[in-house]
Amino acid sequence: MRYHTHLAVTYAAAMPVLVSTGQLTAGTVLAIGLGAVFPDIDHPKSFIGNRTGGVSNGIAMVFGHRGLAHSLAGAAFFFMLSRLFLSTLHLPIVWSEYFMVGYIAHMVEDSFSKTGVAWFQPISHKRIQFGFRKLYYTTGKLTETIIFLIAVFGLMYQISLLF
Ligand SMILES: [Zn+2]
Repeated sequence: MRYHTHLAVTYAAAMPVLVSTGQLTAGTVLAIGLGAVFPDIDHPKSFIGNRTGGVSNGIAMVFGHRGLAHSLAGAAFFFMLSRLFLSTLHLPIVWSEYFMVGYIAHMVEDSFSKTGVAWFQPISHKRIQFGFRKLYYTTGKLTETIIFLIAVFGLMYQISLLF
């Protein structure tokens, strides 16, 4: 899934929760958005990979795309790293939890792709496909475009309700 689809789907799903719990702030929205694109840091050609240069190349070389960064172990690692980062910069630590919301949403979204995600790496490399290999999209193909358009429409509708 491409970064814009990850952002659209994640925000469309997170928006009602943020609004109903009174958590809709620039910080939470940014943290969720960063989490939603972050796991693809293991792909040097991705949106986030393009912006992290050597770091992304290193991760891709060691772990491969949809490797450890797309696993619960990777999520836990980057959760701890984000807490360290936020506390060092004296920013609200709670943003790390929103970062994780986006991160896990990314993994759920990738799990609906044809190839799925190996959630339990490095223990198991078995890729899990959430649609039982019957319901899936293919990255960059029409199915993904349809998902993107539905998510954008849903998100725009939710934003229109705010005003
Ligand atoms: Zn991904």
